[in-house]
Amino acid sequence: MRVKTAIVIGGGIAGCSTAYALAQRGIKVRLVEQHENLGSGASGNPCAMLYPRVSGNDALSSFALASFLYSLDFYQSLQLPATAFNTCGMLQTGYNSRELARITKVAAFLSANPSLKVASKLVNPIEASQIAGVSIDHAALYFPQTGWVNPSVLLARLTQHQHISIMTSCKIALIKNTGALWQVIDIQQKTLAADIVVIANANNAMHLLQSQHISTQPVRGQVTLLAACADSRALNTILCSDGYFSPAMDGVHSLGATFDAGQSDLSIREADHQKNLSALNTLSSALCQDLASRIQSGRASLRCVSTDYFPIVGKLIDADLLRQSPPHPNEDINSLPWLDGLYINTGHGSKGFTSAPWCAELLAQRICGETSSNDNALLGAMNPNRFLLKRLGLKRLAKMA
Ligand SMILES: Cc1cc2nc3c(=O)[nH]c(=O)nc-3n(C[C@H](O)[C@H](O)[C@H](O)COP(=O)(O)OP(=O)(O)OC[C@H]3O[C@@H](n4cnc5c(N)ncnc54)[C@H](O)[C@@H]3O)c2cc1C
Repeated sequence: MRVKTAIVIGGGIAGCSTAYALAQRGIKVRLVEQHENLGSGASGNPCAMLYPRVSGNDALSSFALASFLYSLDFYQSLQLPATAFNTCGMLQTGYNSRELARITKVAAFLSANPSLKVASKLVNPIEASQIAGVSIDHAALYFPQTGWVNPSVLLARLTQHQHISIMTSCKIALIKNTGALWQVIDIQQKTLAADIVVIANANNAMHLLQSQHISTQPVRGQVTLLAACADSRALNTILCSDGYFSPAMDGVHSLGATFDAGQSDLSIREADHQKNLSALNTLSSALCQDLASRIQSGRASLRCVSTDYFPIVGKLIDADLLRQSPPHPNEDINSLPWLDGLYINTGHGSKGFTSAPWCAELLAQRICGETSSNDNALLGAMNPNRFLLKRLGLKRLAKMA
């Protein structure tokens, strides 16, 4: 069946980039968001860094690199204004022995693999300070291609599309299959219907019946916004340790972010501002001294983190049917009880602005039957049913797309 209409639940980067990828294929998309505005969840921070966070030659690193390169090209292709997408580069600092060992290993790996096309250079503290324009206390791995994006401009750009209509203040509580169409029903009993539904509502996917079996947890994070001073305005690249510190945008630096698993309270905490400042101190004690008294405000939101740190992307399975009659471990993947037309794109953890656009593109390719076999291993790693299949002892099927 050719897909003509879609409903996407969730107006963050996962939902908006999925809506965009589908709309680009001529599919009419309804994007449904529970709050009054898009970007009301984790995707609503003032600034998002684009991270090439790599450890070496493992599956998560391959995913991180591929999605990073895709996101840079993708944001470039959207022709965002310079005030919304800036490739100012990033210094990942070796601020302790573990991180120094990691960046040294990554630098060797990237220089041995030029075909990956990820530009990087290991620099000493003097070179790092010259690149940054401010004093940096550590050696660092410099990524000149990367930068930051302004989420609110990005989400607006993705969704101002002739094939996308947005419905806000609409919280979806139920999803039903009526045979020909999928229906979504909101908390006021309003019903919408389409050929397919994509669940992209982060931690709330666990509250929808068909996606209850995914394995994610909320991780609270707080960013601190600091008024720039004369010296800090000289910073012209992103600095990273466990967290990040951005160049000033409209006179404000973003410093983030705390990482508290299992917490879902969204109040702004002074203690969390202090944690962020202490991370800044490890990057540059000079900057920290200048800025410690210049806290303007903060924003707290929840990451949606999967238990194996891979995003959760693909078609869903009927969990009840699978549990009632579990297949043989060598069963053909196509004979599982698939929920044809019901998909998910979530679990983007701390790097959704790098990972979600690529996941959205892969998902749209799959929905439209364009998937190339090159992507099968990665789609398998992101298989949304993997947690359920593993619990049933079906490890081979858990890795397949
Ligand atoms: C403090 C902090 C700093 C971060 N910094 C960065 C960074 O610098 N770079 C980066 O790449 N990533 C960063 N991240 C991670 C990034 O923000 C997330 O990975 C990304 O925003 C996840 O996008 P999402 O669309 O999956 O989720 P969200 O942005 O949370 O979107 C989910 C949306 O679904 C809506 N929704 C929920 N339930 C329903 C329902 N039932 N019906 C309708 N709508 C519903 C929500 O209101 C929300 O708008 C950070 C995260 C935090 C918390």
